[in-house]
Order: sequence, then structure tokens, then C-alpha cells
Amino acid sequence: MGAQSGRDGRVVLAGRPNVGKSTLFNRITGARRAIVTAAPGTTRDVLRHAAEWLGTPFELVDTGGVFGASTDPLQDAVAVQGARALDAASVIVLVTDGRDGVVPADEQVAAQARRTGCPVVLAVNKIDDRRAAERVEEFHRLAIAPVVPVAAEHGLGVGDLLDAVVSRLPRRRGAMARAADAGPPHEATDLAVAIIGRPNVGKSSLVNLLVREERMLVSEVAGTTRDAVDARLTWHGHRLRMVDTAGMRRPGRVARSGRIESVSLVMARRAVAEADVAVVVVDAADGIARQDAAITGEAERAGCGIVIAANKWDLVKERGPHFSKRFDEDVRAALRFAEFAPILHISALTGERAPKLIARVVEVAAARARHVATGELNRFVERVTRRHPPVSPGRRKVRIKYATQVGSRPPTFVFFTNVATQFHFSYERYLRNRLRESFGFEGTPIRLRVRAGGDSRGAGRRR
Ligand code: GDP
Ligand code: GDP
Repeated sequence: MGAQSGRDGRVVLAGRPNVGKSTLFNRITGARRAIVTAAPGTTRDVLRHAAEWLGTPFELVDTGGVFGASTDPLQDAVAVQGARALDAASVIVLVTDGRDGVVPADEQVAAQARRTGCPVVLAVNKIDDRRAAERVEEFHRLAIAPVVPVAAEHGLGVGDLLDAVVSRLPRRRGAMARAADAGPPHEATDLAVAIIGRPNVGKSSLVNLLVREERMLVSEVAGTTRDAVDARLTWHGHRLRMVDTAGMRRPGRVARSGRIESVSLVMARRAVAEADVAVVVVDAADGIARQDAAITGEAERAGCGIVIAANKWDLVKERGPHFSKRFDEDVRAALRFAEFAPILHISALTGERAPKLIARVVEVAAARARHVATGELNRFVERVTRRHPPVSPGRRKVRIKYATQVGSRPPTFVFFTNVATQFHFSYERYLRNRLRESFGFEGTPIRLRVRAGGDSRGAGRRR
């Protein structure tokens, strides 16, 4: 484990094997590298990954199988590794399996965790299972508070757990001062931006402007620097990386699995797969074309945040506010499925509103990563369903029991209902718009799922 200086903001997941640490680790970090295994007692390496919750960065450590891997803990090198992991923690999350109730191995790890003197939060996992949900109270016996019920596999309660964790991290100076101390931020905190669009709309000009015209950007916006080599740029501490700019200028069409597609579309698809936010560049002088919709569709399907950049605005500026309004309406009509995307009128030639574009990209990325706590979400559900009860295509009366945000990037919500059903598409749209309004999910797609059951009576649970 690292030296004392690295202690700030280290969150350690501890607990006996098979309680769901690895699942929780993947859920929080978004990493897929840690292999989840169902074999009890499987020893894995200690894994670390950068994570963040509501703007607070921390390092997450999964202790894998180090607790409970040995029958003779005092003699075992693995046990020593576990003790070291706990000593280096700023907050310990003791993970338990609610289905099993409190078992002796939990008590051992709990005692070890308490001895460190560092804050401990108890996560009772697998509460999607009724047996677990009913045994949560039992865990107060471990004398650890708070006790947070979660279902790592489904994301239930994970936001509440992170709220509890982050509020117990040591107070620090501003995030900027810390970032400066730590040197360049972790690769994972980079914001990947895809600049996509038809040929000749000005994509290369825009990238060049953003990464090369350093002086102009710097003079307009304090804190802007650039790294021309990799098409990277830093803006107010946010590191932006423009993905896949190399092949931007290849024109024409390609054959791909028997279909002929435009290079722009294929490139867009590749870039958005890697991106947090897609800037869809359209030509203001040319108007919106069918291919613009296909390209934007790729970004939406990939779950990217979207900002629409109406480029070459210098050419149409003279035409006045009426043109401007009409243009935006045309964009909205052609790109209905991306109605959440902000539209900016820019010029890659004159640099007009380029700083504003970057600011929007950063805002959209933040919105896309936002997480709403379950409690807050359920107050939302109560409010919006009171105004408009759910509508489903079927005939049965639908009631939303509760909802939870199971993921972010893009924000993904599960609505648990009394009957297995779908919402009518207009009702989904209503929910999406209200979510956007209430929690500021601007510029990001929102995914909704509907599931039956999930309450304490376990009605109609689907696994
Ligand atoms: P670890 O050994 O503590 O890292 O546990 P894993 O993350 O490998 O999970 C052990 C098993 O529990 C796996 O089969 C997971 O799929 C399962 N599991 C993890 N979280 C949940 C959950 O929230 N609900 C249910 N029902 N199973 C879970
Ligand atoms: P790409 O194919 O999308 O990468 O487009 P380019 O960046 O190569 O630009 C295509 C043409 O449009 C070039 O002749 C650019 O000089 C011109 N262009 C790009 N941006 C602007 C702009 O904001 N205003 C004007 N007037 N011309 C632009």
C-alpha cells in the first residue's frame, strides 16, 4: 500500500469473499477489469481504481479475497495484506451479504476495521433478495454506523452509500489545489470528446481552433492551455481529449458488412463509442441534412452527451434573429431524438463562441455523470406521478412503487411498478423531461427501464 501522503481520499472495500465487493467496485468505478467470480474463497489481487462522487475524487480499493482466505489469519501473508489495506484507508466500507445475516467472518473483519480508528460504513448487500431485505436490522449488531442497504448488482442504494462515504472523507483544500499537488490527474478523469459531422462542415477547423489557437482561447478564458500533439486541451482544470481526429478528412464511402455507408458515419460510430460527449458539427450555411440525423443518431445510441455546433455562423449572421430561430427549429425537427442537446452558433473561422462550446461540453459531461440519491428520486416519483399517473399500453392500472438510478454515463433509471409492463412512450418522455428539469440532466440521453415488483412482499420480482 502507498505511503502516508497517499492516504487522502482512499476508500477500501473490505469483507469476506463473495459478499459482492467486486460487483460494488465495478459499479462505482465503471471498470470492467475486475473479474467477478462466484467461487467462494477465490483470492484476487487487491485492485485500485480512481473514482468520483458528486465532484469528490477518491481512490477505490477492492481487497478481493484477502479477508477470509486463510484459516490461520495470524500466520498468513494474505491477512497481513488485508491489515495493511485497512490501515491505509481514509474510509472503510465493510461489505456484507444480507442473505446470510451476520456470520463470524463478518464480525472478524468488523473488529479489524474498528481497530483502525478510521470511519467505517456498513453496506448490507443483495437486498434485491427478499431474505436480505428482511435481515438488514440484524446488522446493527456489528456496532457500525451507518448501515446502508444496497444491491450492488442493480445499483440500488449505491448513491446513498457513496453519500455516506464521501461525507466521511477527510476535508481537503479545493480540488484544484489537490490536483496541482498530485500532478496530472488520472487518465480516467479525462473527458473524451468526439467531433463528428458530415464532410466539410468544419470539423478539422474546429479541432485546430480548439487545440492550436491557444493564445486566443487563453486571452478570452483564463486557465486555458493546450497540448497540440494529442489534440488535447485543458480548460479550467478539465482535461479534454478529442478522440479519433486522425481520419477526419477522408472523404467518400466505404463498404461495411455488405452495406455502403459514408465514411463520416463510420467514423462517427467509432468515435462516439469512446466518447463522453459528442460535438455534432453542422453547417449553418448549408442547412441540416439527412446525414446529420444519422450521425447524431450514432451519438444518441452510444449514450454520449450531445452538443450541436452550428458552424460557419459567420456566413449567416447577417440574416438576423428570424433566421436564427428558424434554423434552430429546423435542427429540432430533424433531430427530434436529440431534443435535449444544446445548440450553439459558432464559427471555427473567427473563433466566435468557441470557449462557450467547451464550457457546454464540460457541463454536459457533468450532467451525464450525475447521480440522484434514491431518497430524492422517490420524492420526485411521488411528485410527478401525483400530477400525472403512469400510462401504459396495456389496460391494467400501473403504479410506480419506487425508482432508483442504477447507473450513470448516461444516467439510467429503473422504475419498479406493480405490474410487469412498459410505459407508453409519451409517458416515458414525460418522465425523462421531468428528470431533466428536476436534476439538470442537460445534454445527456436518459435511459429508463421498467421492472415489476421489488417491494418487501417481493411481488413479481424478475431476475
Ligand atoms: P466478492 O468476492 O466480495 O468480490 O464478491 P463478488 O462481487 O465476486 O460477488 C459474489 C457473488 O454475489 C456474485 O455471484 C455476484 O453476482 C453476487 N452479487 C453481487 N452483488 C449482488 C447483489 O446486489 N444482489 C445479488 N442477488 N447478488 C449479488
Ligand atoms: P471537415 O471536413 O468537417 O473537417 O471540414 P474542414 O474543417 O476541412 O472545413 C471545410 C471548409 O469549411 C474549409 O474550407 C474551411 O475553411 C471552411 N470552414 C470551416 N469552418 C468555417 C467557419 O466557421 N466559417 C467559414 N466561413 N468557413 C469555415
